[in-house]
Amino acid sequence: MGRHGRFYAAPAREEDARPITRSTIRRVLATFAPYRSKVALVGLAIVVTSGLGVVNPLMIVVVFNKALFGSSLGSNDCGGVACPNLPLLYRYVGIMIAVPIVTSVIGIGQTYLTNLVGLRVMQDLRNRLYSHLQFMPLRFFTTTRTGEIQSRLANDVGGVQTVVTDTMSTVLSNFVTIVSTLVAMLFLSVPLTLLSLFLMPLFVWLTAKVGKARRQVATSTQKTLADLTAITEETLSVSGILLSKSFGRQRYEIDRFGGENRRLTGLQIRQTMIGRSFFAVVGTFFSITPALVYLVAGWVNSGHPAKPILYGTLVGFTTLQSRLFFPIGSMLQVSTDVQSSFALFDRVFEYLDMDHEIEDAPDAVALSPASVRGHVRLRAARFRYDEPPPEGLPVSPPDATSPPEAERREWTLDGVDIEIQPGQLAALVGPSGAGKTTITYLVPRLYDVQEGAVEIDGHDVRNIRLQSLGDIIGVVTQETYLFHTTIRRNLLYGKPDADERELEAAARAANIYDRIVELPEGFDTIVGERGYKLSGGEKQRLAIARVILKDPRILILDEATSSLDTESEMEVQKALANLMEGRTTFVIAHRLSTVRKADRIIVLSSGSIKEIGGHEELLESGGEYSRLYSLQFNG
Ligand code: ATP
Repeated sequence: MGRHGRFYAAPAREEDARPITRSTIRRVLATFAPYRSKVALVGLAIVVTSGLGVVNPLMIVVVFNKALFGSSLGSNDCGGVACPNLPLLYRYVGIMIAVPIVTSVIGIGQTYLTNLVGLRVMQDLRNRLYSHLQFMPLRFFTTTRTGEIQSRLANDVGGVQTVVTDTMSTVLSNFVTIVSTLVAMLFLSVPLTLLSLFLMPLFVWLTAKVGKARRQVATSTQKTLADLTAITEETLSVSGILLSKSFGRQRYEIDRFGGENRRLTGLQIRQTMIGRSFFAVVGTFFSITPALVYLVAGWVNSGHPAKPILYGTLVGFTTLQSRLFFPIGSMLQVSTDVQSSFALFDRVFEYLDMDHEIEDAPDAVALSPASVRGHVRLRAARFRYDEPPPEGLPVSPPDATSPPEAERREWTLDGVDIEIQPGQLAALVGPSGAGKTTITYLVPRLYDVQEGAVEIDGHDVRNIRLQSLGDIIGVVTQETYLFHTTIRRNLLYGKPDADERELEAAARAANIYDRIVELPEGFDTIVGERGYKLSGGEKQRLAIARVILKDPRILILDEATSSLDTESEMEVQKALANLMEGRTTFVIAHRLSTVRKADRIIVLSSGSIKEIGGHEELLESGGEYSRLYSLQFNG
């Protein structure tokens, strides 16, 4: 399974396209529930407009047979045929003009409502998905490509709108059209209707084949589009472009993009051609069938000259018949559309169904930041990043090393015990990969321990409301993330209701005030994407000011390594000293000065604590710390 948790497997693809299940249908319907009255109105409008569609073809019959060439006026001979009955013609023509006008007017209202419902459902789903993603655990984001997430939020949810505006209304309108047309055809002539139905199986078979091919290509296109988005996102981000430039891999990236892009074009051409063949099938049938109708009419009329099929009936019938092919063909296509639309819903639901993993326990308590003292304790904490293998599977191959050894290697943190008193400074030291960062992830519940517990003021963090946990813990990482907006807004992220005075005080405490006021627009200067227009040290000091504003009781700090120059580093150090004042602080210490003044130095190695104590004490004991000290700090 590797680092990819089994909960975040690749999304639904062509090869694992699932059948539409009842529960999906129920959930899709539920997304429409808030708009049920509008949906009902749309349905009614569709039934009325599609039903009205048979009126004019039927009017043709009476116009021809009664008004234009009506036998009732047979005495007046108009060049060999009966003369028109003008009063009747006026009435019929009036109806034939009124019907399309009424249909169009209802159609406009229907389009408005359908779009409204479609866009609202899309808006709701997008909001739900985004909110759900906000609470997904860090584990999800470390194992899922950003492009993939964006594609679900943009393409899949976007696709859902088409389902409503196009697919759903097409299904209903086609259904009503087919039924009403068939009834009208039967009413006009049973033998001609039977002829039309006789041709249908061939038509249905051809269209179904085209539909299947279309669905397959559509799914592949969707996947390729997602891949292309992911590549773009990965490689054209600031970090991505930096990487490709610094490794001189632009050519490789261009080729990779080119390959996917070529694939996309190929698929799109196939998609267009398949669409075209659909119209070819419909078009052919459309043209051939009237000829066959005339043939059968000829046979019928020569067989029963006393009861002939009249002109009007023939013209009306062929008009009706032409109304049949497109809806039937499109119904078959639509059935595949419905399937792919449900697949889109499924992809959205798949994300919505993912477990948040880290959630408020039902009896979780809300701690008020003011009352928190900041006593932190890890009790025999055991943690690993990968989910344990499914039950029943052995953790390690049976012939691996002895069981205790094999099990030990599974844990990133293995039985960590730490107790930090309120206001103390705890320095985490140890070689790379020892688990220092992982410990700092456990306190704010970015991950939960699998065994043991993490406690704040005696409360297991799993029993503290996540919101209040977020309020009492502040984090400053080496990699500072700033939003592409003004300095003010970036700072206010720490305390949205902070006033100007608080903002200024925080900036001063973080040693960044003078630099901010020097900037052309001061606090209103917009920082570049991810704050790239600011120096590393400045960004860090802004991040520190942000946390100072937040004023958390517990602080987690990843000290900057050598990325800063000495002067900038001193500025940051001063800012940090102000920040740490009076707060329980965990620091991943890279600097001797920090380590020396720490109340507790926690020496980690391969996920376990090797030593805990003060600087002098640990040096004297001559253990791991003194070895690290001479290696890391004493050089
Ligand atoms: P460094 O000083 O290099 O940052 P560290 O002591 O902070 O190291 P951690 O980042 O806590 O070490 O990592 C501990 C172990 O967990 C390492 O072996 C690392 O590869 C692994 N690890 C870290 N993050 C993840 C992750 N998201 N998924 C799986 N394994 C991870």
